[in-house]
Amino acid sequence: MIARVSLEIALRKEFDYLIPADLAGQIDVGSRVQVPFGPRKLLGVVTAVAEESGHANLKPILKVIGAQTLVTPKVLKLARWIGEYYCCAPEIALKSVLPEAVRKEDAGWRERLLVRALPFVGEFPKLPGRQQAVWNLVEERRVIMLSELLRLAKTTANTVRKLEDRGLVSLTAEVSERDPYARETILATQPITLNPAQAAALEKIKAAMNQGDEVSGRKAEKGAAAGSATFLLHGVTGSGKTEIYLQAIAHALARGQGAIVLVPEIALTPQTVERFKARFSSGKLPTLVAVLHSHLSAGERHDEWHKIRQGRARIVIGARSAIFAPVEPLGLIIVDEEHEQTYKQEEAPRYHARDVAIMRGQMENAVVVLGSATPSLESFYNCRRGKFMLLELPERVDDQKLPRTRVVDMRSAMRDGKGPPLFSPQLKEAITQRLERGEQTILFLNRRGYSTSLLCPQCGYVANCPNCSVSLTYHRIDQRLACHICGHNEKVPLVCPEPKCKNPAIRFAGTGTQKVEEVLAKLFPRARIKRMDADTMKRKDDYRHVLGDFRAGKIDILVGTQMIAKGLHFPNVTLVGIIYADSALHQPDFRAGERTFQLLTQVAGRAGRGDVEGEVFVQAFTPFHPAIQYARRHDFVGFYEQEIEFREQLKYPPVSRVALLTLKGRNEEKIRFTADHLKRELEKNLLALKDLVVSGPAPAPLLRAENFYRYQIMLRTRAMSSLSRELARIIKSLALPEDVSLAVDIDPVNLS
Ligand code: ADP
Ligand code: ZN
Repeated sequence: MIARVSLEIALRKEFDYLIPADLAGQIDVGSRVQVPFGPRKLLGVVTAVAEESGHANLKPILKVIGAQTLVTPKVLKLARWIGEYYCCAPEIALKSVLPEAVRKEDAGWRERLLVRALPFVGEFPKLPGRQQAVWNLVEERRVIMLSELLRLAKTTANTVRKLEDRGLVSLTAEVSERDPYARETILATQPITLNPAQAAALEKIKAAMNQGDEVSGRKAEKGAAAGSATFLLHGVTGSGKTEIYLQAIAHALARGQGAIVLVPEIALTPQTVERFKARFSSGKLPTLVAVLHSHLSAGERHDEWHKIRQGRARIVIGARSAIFAPVEPLGLIIVDEEHEQTYKQEEAPRYHARDVAIMRGQMENAVVVLGSATPSLESFYNCRRGKFMLLELPERVDDQKLPRTRVVDMRSAMRDGKGPPLFSPQLKEAITQRLERGEQTILFLNRRGYSTSLLCPQCGYVANCPNCSVSLTYHRIDQRLACHICGHNEKVPLVCPEPKCKNPAIRFAGTGTQKVEEVLAKLFPRARIKRMDADTMKRKDDYRHVLGDFRAGKIDILVGTQMIAKGLHFPNVTLVGIIYADSALHQPDFRAGERTFQLLTQVAGRAGRGDVEGEVFVQAFTPFHPAIQYARRHDFVGFYEQEIEFREQLKYPPVSRVALLTLKGRNEEKIRFTADHLKRELEKNLLALKDLVVSGPAPAPLLRAENFYRYQIMLRTRAMSSLSRELARIIKSLALPEDVSLAVDIDPVNLS
């Protein structure tokens, strides 16, 4: 017998190996194996098993890793799709479906030695003092870990071995499972009675799951593809989406199926995990919920993953890569906060976990539920076109009102001769009130993004590209403004171009959370203030401690970046202040408006989750921008309608799809030359794609990073699958200079 193996090096090629007699029966499709490759030993995955090979002189497989096959045929199929659609080497796609701790064997199971007292008959022997002391401990405990015993008895393993020789104790190695949540006490919860909107949504999801049976039955008969169901659950913040997820999962379990729940990494707080464990994982079924995310140790990840593979864990909750968890049979996939950018992996394979979830749902006939208070334009567009089914929860549970949002025009808060203040008088006043009433405040500043746009702090003017409707990127070095989609380039104006303004102080200097904290401490010397951003949250537990203190009322004002925008639920927060709402708006990206709308809505959702109605202050230099105005009114559909029009006009997603090609190298001339050549090749080879738009090459917004220059070409078409296929072919035949690299990003979410 021979096995075809995909090795972990991106050769876009598979190799045949002999299955040696002693490994026969242990190797199947999906097995992880170690094989010789030239002088090296490499790891790989078996993708097929056959009687014989077309090649002669095959080398034998050296060893198998793990007792079970690690990549199930279904996950293998998904990996192949990722390789094709995202235009990356199949080996890279295959590698990404197993966590590192599972792929490499070193993490393994943790074994520990247990000492057990054996039943004793006859006269008990007279033991030397030290052995007697050890025996006393073992007898009292019946079973004790060797390491603990040695610590308590202050002795060495030798003494224990002597007791073993006398037949008094046994020493055995047992697997001890690492449970990252072992120290938590989790109280069981029961399903809540749903309100009518929730109940209606759940019924539709359940009906689709039940229908799955018929469909797969028919599919088996006819060999036809199923039309599986994808739902978009659009529910305002606090509308009880999570309760629907929980009850839909219970339905999957009752049908003998498992579920995968994806949440953005940042939302994978103990609070979130606890809600799922509390419903399903307490009492007799401690392993029913497995958790996969980057804060686990390699050993914990190994154990959690194998609990899933062995079928003991039926529910998986995790970040992006949990979409590959080997849950079988899979009945339900939930993607919470489906609009989140972090679902996109920013290195190869550059997959989008939401889109992979939909594909996996189709392949395995599982129902997919995408949930969000601010759906992505892609998902809502798919509802409008009848591809997804829309479920709506327009109200918060318990009749809580959505917070009242006020937009503060920062242009009118300008002080003579100085820049704009950080805090408008209105926001200052509102904070003072909260401090007096003993209520809490969250202040939000989006400081992300290195690319600077040009903004006039006096009139709100922003320099935009005349062709692409994205803001121009300010390049400090040569004092120019550039569009990174079409390459348009112009000089930085000396004064604001707005005829009524002509402000000479047009260059905007950004501020960060640290500055906000400093100014705040001066304005409110007695307030207890805490900052939460990537700089202050370095250690694993920092996030938890600060949130714990905030919950306990030990902090009055929490200042932070998007780290505090999502999923938090603090009933005593009655005020949310957004320091500079425009900052996300002026990113050089066609999704800037969408992101601003999402961010403002999400942050505002943190206010008024208790008995007191919440209030939100949005400080902005462009207060009448639609993204800000629709967010103020909590009007997603209104925002969608006007935004989709702009996307239609410029053929941006979701109306078409984008592939972004980035060339990178140290020599700018060479990069530009190669990019021009690539563009010509593309245009020559892609004539069959009638709707294709090729823009660029243009310098990336982050033109120079770590001494590398980056140029981009953007392709837009509706027929992305065909484009991916063609791109793979063109790239293969392309002879790039050695010091120039090319990255392909299909459906990019980050255009920098
Ligand atoms: P979302 O996920 O939409 O933000 P959650 O599911 O977190 O909303 O619900 C917010 C709060 O309301 C939670 O504490 C939840 O337990 C509670 N809740 C959900 N559904 C109901 C209901 N039908 N009746 C009462 N409380 C509910
Ligand atoms: Zn442009």
